[in-house]
Order: sequence, then C-alpha cells, then structure tokens
Amino acid sequence: MQLALVNEKKLEAFPKGRGFCPICGAEAIAKCGPRVMHHWAHLRKRNCDPWWENETPWHREWKNRFPLECREVSHVAEDGEIHRADIKTPTGIVIEVQHSSMTDAERISREEFYKNLVWVIDGSVFKDNFDIYHMLPDPRSELAQDLVWSKAKRHMHGANTGIFFRLSEAVEEYPEVTKSTLRGGRIHGIYDIEEEVTESYNGYHQYDWVRPRKTWLDANCPVYIDFGDEYLVKLEIYDESSLKCIRLVSKLKFVHDAMTESDAKNIATRFYPINKGQP
Ligand SMILES: [Zn+2]
Repeated sequence: MQLALVNEKKLEAFPKGRGFCPICGAEAIAKCGPRVMHHWAHLRKRNCDPWWENETPWHREWKNRFPLECREVSHVAEDGEIHRADIKTPTGIVIEVQHSSMTDAERISREEFYKNLVWVIDGSVFKDNFDIYHMLPDPRSELAQDLVWSKAKRHMHGANTGIFFRLSEAVEEYPEVTKSTLRGGRIHGIYDIEEEVTESYNGYHQYDWVRPRKTWLDANCPVYIDFGDEYLVKLEIYDESSLKCIRLVSKLKFVHDAMTESDAKNIATRFYPINKGQP
C-alpha cells in the first residue's frame, strides 16, 4: 500500500517508517529499498484486504493524479465488510485501477460493494489486440440518428474505414424498421459524409478488440482503458443498433470530472472549461 497511518495521519512510506494499516490496524513497516517502489507492508501477516492487488508503478501513477486524501480510502458496507478503494473522490466516486484480469464474479462483487464506481484498466498488455478505427459522429447529433453503421472488425477492410445504411432509406421500403431491426439496404461509405462526421466528432470511434477480456464488456460500471496515451479509451454502446464503440476522453478531463461530478456515470458527459495550468 502507498499510505499508512502514522500518528493518525495517512503518510507515504519513509525510510525506517513504522505505522498502522488503515484497514485492520495492524503494524505496518515502510519498504524503501533503492530498487523498490516505496510502499508499506504489514509487519506480520499478509495483506488484510483480499481484493488488494500488488501495486505496480502504473497503479501508483494513477493514485498520484489525485490528492493524497483521496488515495487508498477505506470503505465500509452496511454489514461491516471493509475494503480499501484505490481512489475515492470528495464527491463520492470510487475509482478502481485494475492491472490484472478479473473474473465476472470478482468484478460484480466490487461493483455491488462500491456502487458509484468507475474502472480504469491497464491496457498495455492487450494493446496489440485492440484496434481503433474511423470516427463516428456524436451519437446525439442529428446526423447520427439516420445512420446505422456496420461493425468494424480486424481484416474487414470495408467496415474498418466506415460503411453505413440510412434509416430514412430503409423506412421507405419497410415503414416499421428501426435502428435495432435494420439489417441491410443501400450501402454508403463514410467518404460521402466525411465533413459532416468531422464536424460533429466528439471522441467516438469504431473499434475491434480481438480476444477481449469479456468481463469489461459486461461491466455495469463505466470502464476506461489506459493504453499509456494522453487519452483514455472508454467502452460504450453507440446507439439502439447496439453497436459497440469507444470514446476517447482526455485523462485531464477524466480526473477533473471525477473530482467534480457526483455520479460515476456522468464523468465526461458535460463540458467544463479546464484550466490546464492547474494540477
Ligand atoms: Zn491491514
């Protein structure tokens, strides 16, 4: 863990430091060797929180984007179950930064425990299996209401560059048709509407995740993947056609909104001017 209680204050590990685990109260000892990331460990027993994942520099980097009092915050359920959230913001949003893969059962138990939760997943290990394709117009734009996109897939060169059907054309033939039932029609290419798409672009793209970690596609809480860029990749469903899409959200925006919004689902849904000069 990054923080332990020393004289009732949460502190980072310092050489020869002694403190107490904020969860179980047991003695903790600072590990500050020259080749290890400075951290605290329990003096006697193993880690008390079964959900705790060994910290990597990536975990640490994420925690450090938030003020110290937001990191490693104990969270107690009504029945007394206690866990340590990686990050909990002053507005009550819990952020779990997850490096290892997870079973459905593990994911679900954490979603039910924290409820107002958002996942940040380390994508560096599956980066080569994740392709990001053409831009999509903002799903709320007028343009998007008429378009039904063909799902992009690795090696499917048409769909990868952007092909779609128009609902307005399909309705002429089948008046009952909706986005969710439309299965075919006249094929259009994105090059016909490139300018309009660019104009209403708001970070949405098609993608293909080869051999996906399925639990993240089924998650009930928002999932953002960190591939090490300045943008996070948020998993989303585009529209009533159930098209899976991603949205690029800058890390700066994500952190700002997590500190400001009170519902995890509202992160990156509203525009705020961000003062880049501030941490
Ligand atoms: Zn403990």
